[in-house]
Amino acid sequence: MKTRYSMTPQQKKRLEKIARKIVIQSPEHANNIVDYFKIIIEAVDNEFVEDARPTRDAFLTELLARAIEERTTSVDLPTKVYSRDGTEVGIPTGDTHPCSMESCRGTCITVRWKDDSLTYPCSKGMDWKRDGSAKII
Ligand SMILES: [Zn+2]
Repeated sequence: MKTRYSMTPQQKKRLEKIARKIVIQSPEHANNIVDYFKIIIEAVDNEFVEDARPTRDAFLTELLARAIEERTTSVDLPTKVYSRDGTEVGIPTGDTHPCSMESCRGTCITVRWKDDSLTYPCSKGMDWKRDGSAKII
């Protein structure tokens, strides 16, 4: 480990702007996304020259999985939430907070039920349906 270096907010903004363009749906979007990943992969290959390629590939695969996992913490809200027994339907208020359970990367979603009570089920403890609703499990 040499000098510490973190991306600046300005650099992140610039990358986000580029990323938004290259993912625009077209016959080229898949190729664009692959090219975008290749740029990072090549930079890693050039930086971690002391590692064998399979080691770098495992490292990159792990980081991509982590990025996908962390992304799910900024969760899309379900349209409605079914209670564990499926008999009650609640509506997300729009409020969320990070789940406080140790090592859970989920998001607690504030849900208002018919009797006006609020609960805060964790996004990781829900069964997400294709129609945009979710059921507490
Ligand atoms: Zn949780």
